[in-house]
Amino acid sequence: MLTYRNYIGGKWVSSDSKEIFKSIDPARPLHILGYFQKSTKEDVKTAVEAAGKAYEPWSDVPAPYRAKVLFNVRDLLIKNKERLSRLLTLEMGKVLPEARGDVQEAIDVFEYMAGEGRRLFGHTTPSELRDKFCMTIRRPIGIVGLITPWNFPIAIPAWKLAPALICGNSVVFKPATDTPLCAIKLVEILEKAGVPKGAVNLITGSGAEVGSEIIKNKKIRAISFTGSKKVGEYVMQNAGLKKVGLELGGKNAIIVMDDANLDLAVDGIIWGGFGTTGQRCTAASRVIVHSKIKKKLEIALLKKIKGLRLGHGLKSTTDVGPLINKSAVEKTQKYTVIGKEEGAKLLCGGKIVKMLGNFYTPTLFTNVTPTMRIAKEEIFGPVVSILEAKNIDQAIEFANSVDYGLSSSIYTNDIRNAFKAMEKIEAGLTYVNSSTIGSEVHLPFGGVKDTGNGTREAGWGGIEEFSEEKTLYVDYSNKLQKAQIDVVKFKK
Ligand code: NAD
Repeated sequence: MLTYRNYIGGKWVSSDSKEIFKSIDPARPLHILGYFQKSTKEDVKTAVEAAGKAYEPWSDVPAPYRAKVLFNVRDLLIKNKERLSRLLTLEMGKVLPEARGDVQEAIDVFEYMAGEGRRLFGHTTPSELRDKFCMTIRRPIGIVGLITPWNFPIAIPAWKLAPALICGNSVVFKPATDTPLCAIKLVEILEKAGVPKGAVNLITGSGAEVGSEIIKNKKIRAISFTGSKKVGEYVMQNAGLKKVGLELGGKNAIIVMDDANLDLAVDGIIWGGFGTTGQRCTAASRVIVHSKIKKKLEIALLKKIKGLRLGHGLKSTTDVGPLINKSAVEKTQKYTVIGKEEGAKLLCGGKIVKMLGNFYTPTLFTNVTPTMRIAKEEIFGPVVSILEAKNIDQAIEFANSVDYGLSSSIYTNDIRNAFKAMEKIEAGLTYVNSSTIGSEVHLPFGGVKDTGNGTREAGWGGIEEFSEEKTLYVDYSNKLQKAQIDVVKFKK
């Protein structure tokens, strides 16, 4: 069995700790995929030093040339797409077509960000004084720390690595402990593509040890974190004056109005609620349905859910893969119990599957009210709750009744409902007549309220997250000019 190492300063090295941890296949927990370095704070400091040395030469490379390295990454990802996708399914559990989507997202974001190498726009604007030129340019931030979750083990690191690199930063990257192998395979590709030594450093290990040192280390100038609200709050409290980007949880709703195409809505709910076994930040965990069609929707959903087949994500017959680990199974079960105790009606599922692997039956609750915990808290498992609303205003009120604000969706054929939802739902994303999932890399991604702190990833948002805007004034008047004080007179 292979023991994988950290990547620091362009070398694959063991941790100071001499300790390792394992990564397993969540569908077959006895199947070990490899061992990984249980790194220490000292390892992080060594990586920060390497990133510091690499920063100046890397940031000095003109962005269009940095882009060539990103294009190489894209090409290598394309070449290795199938291999990486299968490995991703093995380590994270999602079904193979979704794993291919995960890798494709990485391909897309490296391509998009490579293109930004020829843009990286600043802007120009007139000065209030004569013979003075005003503009902004984009500069890198310095050493940036990336901390990622396990649910998109290739795509999310890529969403951060590609903009960080094109902007000229150097990186210290810590992946989730459940998916270190995907991270290592991605970094191997970066190495092969020509990312210079030290520009990207990978450290595996726990959040408490490695993650917290990244967050607190004074030489790291920015943190980009994707994960739970709880750890997001810890980041905010401990990062000092660093620039911080947070992408946290969701409790996303699909509204289904009485004028909707019901079949389309059912497909969207199944895809949004049970795709990736409900383990997406954008998963549709709430369905807010118009009273008139509630019964009809429940019947249609039940029929579809009963046809979903659980199994290993590599099997072509599988619709729903495993949960990531045992504690995710226990958490999902805990919420089933809470839902029943709160008085919600369990329509189907709610069971741990008695087979090897972290499987849980797709679960549907109805008669859920907005104050119930299953309607408010992120479960991150295959559990969907149906709430009933009497009109569009109440549906939007229910959609907004949670602390999170990531994704949302409405199924309707009435343009007035669609526009009300687009304007009034408190979320970073609203889809009309499609599910809560399906972001594209050239558009900004992120949430409002407790889902984050206002930053956006992907698209131009990614460039803003990983660069500083610098303002330049060029005075060619050859005299002392004072903004706000000198009075500009009309020439006669
Ligand atoms: P998590 O918060 O437990 O872990 C995320 C990362 O933080 C991991 O690498 C982990 O090791 C690290 N970490 C844990 N404790 C830490 C600490 N004290 N200091 C520093 N780092 C620490 O989240 P998770 O279980 O890996 O992922 C699931 C969560 O991520 C869900 O809440 C989901 O909604 C969210 N998520 C959000 C988005 C988004 O873009 N908004 C995308 C995917 C997942």
